[in-house]
This record gives sequence, structure tokens and C-alpha cells, in this order.
Amino acid sequence: MAADGVGGISRAERWSLAGTAALVTGGSKGIGHAIVEELAGFGATVHTCSRNAAELEECRRRWEEKGLPVTVSVCDVSVRAEREKLMETVNQTFDGKLDILVNNAGQMPLKAAVEWTADEYSQLMTTNLESCFHLCQLAHPLLIHASIAGGSSIVNISSISGSIAYKGVALYAISKGGMNQLTRSLATEWAPNNIRVNAIAPGFITTDMTRNIDKNILEQEYSKTPMRRSGEPVEVASTAMFLCMPAASFITGQVIFIDGGRTISG
Ligand code: NDP
Repeated sequence: MAADGVGGISRAERWSLAGTAALVTGGSKGIGHAIVEELAGFGATVHTCSRNAAELEECRRRWEEKGLPVTVSVCDVSVRAEREKLMETVNQTFDGKLDILVNNAGQMPLKAAVEWTADEYSQLMTTNLESCFHLCQLAHPLLIHASIAGGSSIVNISSISGSIAYKGVALYAISKGGMNQLTRSLATEWAPNNIRVNAIAPGFITTDMTRNIDKNILEQEYSKTPMRRSGEPVEVASTAMFLCMPAASFITGQVIFIDGGRTISG
């Protein structure tokens, strides 16, 4: 079966997520939080997760106040059984269908390559890469039943570190480089199922993850960035939202850089 185009629907339908169901991991803050709000703001019903129950409940309360349709559950994506439980919750919440999966939850420990222990290696790879692969696998039967025009979508939140080299993030870089190739492989394998798979590779974005980075390092980074600043979570979220829309129906297997031009400069 070929992936469906969207020639037969209206412009308004091409730019809407009305009636769709989405799962976003790591939605309690930062980029994931902005993606939840962007998807819900354009019509999706969203389920999100993170590890801190109190923080998540506070988010849920604020989303309810804003009238955004978002449900939450606690899940540590580094634990296989918790991923399985999360997808079971999603299955029940959305009656066996899912239109959008955003693999956003991730961590970036800073450490010289010689200092990593085997356990730390394993923990980071499980959190950033294995969880992404496994959640895609678990979501596959639900994404096949999606009804969104132009195909259901997986968006993996990668990083420019998966493509250009920085000191102190060797393992993070491997995990994000692996995510980029996973994205291309699944895009090829699942196009016949009408599932599009793309990745977003942000540059420096102002979130808790980057808040404590040394000011000198940030200044150096801005000097290599044509736009001379870091990005905001919503600037990543709006692209994630676009990739999930019927308007993006012929885009699959791509890694989209959102980095103020960092990766094109010397
Ligand atoms: P934040 O630290 O601000 O937010 C991370 C979110 O993920 C939180 O909701 C956190 O909640 C959740 N999370 C972390 N670990 C787990 C886990 N094991 N299971 C479930 N949820 C988890 O990070 P950012 O928003 O900055 O980063 C989001 C993604 O974007 C990451 O994949 C990161 O690698 C990527 N990225 C970020 C960049 C940046 O400059 N900020 C640049 C490039 C890529 P809790 O801790 O309560 O579980």
C-alpha cells in the first residue's frame, strides 16, 4: 500500500491536527512541554509523561485551566516495563489508535570520554536511544490505525551533537547520531504502513538542560552561530507540530536542524 497523499483535502484540513491523538515523552518542561502545548493548541488530544509526579500533576492542572486536552502519567522511559505500561495507557486512552509519537525525553550528562563507567554508558543509551526504538516498536500497531490524512508521524528529538562534534558529550552524540539513523531506517521500513518518521536536531535551546552551561562556552557557541543566540523551546515545537500535520505529508526520513545556522557555519 502506498502512503496516502493529501490532494483531496482542504487547506484548513492540511494545517490542522483536529481529532488526532498524540504521545509526547518528557512533557513536564523544556522542549517537550512546548511540543505538548503546540500539538494540543492545534487540535490534538495529547498524553505526556515524565518521572516527577508532582511536577507533572502541576502541568496537568495548568493545561486544564488553559482548556488544553492533555492527560499525563508517570513513566521513566529508561525502564522497559514502564514503557510497556505507558503504551498500554495510551492504547486505552485513545481506543487503540495513535496519530503522533514524539520521542523527546532525554538527558545530556557532561563528562570527558575517559571518565564514563559501563553503568553510566548503559543508562544513557537506554534513556536516549533504546527507549526511542522500543517506543516506536510499541507504537507501531497503534500508528497503523491512525486516521490522519497524509500518514501518522513519529518525531524524534535528536540534536546537532549527533552531526557535529563537541567536547564532553561523546556518548550523548552517539545516542543522537543513532537516533538520526534509526529515523531514516524506520522511515524506509514503515512508509508502506503510512507512518512518516522524522527527527529534529536542535542547536542550543534555553531549557533546564542548558541553563547551567558555562557562560564562556555559550558565548563561544553564539560566535559560531549566524543568528548569534540560543533558541526557544517553542521554535522547536512549531516544527514538530508542522511535521505531524497533513501539510507535511511528503516529508519522511529527514533530520531537520533548528539551530540558527550553527551547522552551516565553519
Ligand atoms: P529538559 O531537561 O528541560 O526536559 C527534559 C524532559 O524530559 C523533562 O520533562 C524531564 O522530566 C523528562 N525526562 C528526562 N528523563 C526522563 C526519563 N528517563 N523518563 C521520562 N521523562 C524523562 O530538557 P530539554 O527540553 O532541553 O530536552 C528535551 C530533548 O531535546 C532531549 O532529548 C534533548 O537531548 C534534546 N535537545 C535539547 C537541546 C537543548 O539545547 N536544550 C539541544 C538539542 C537537543 P523528569 O526529569 O521529571 O523526568
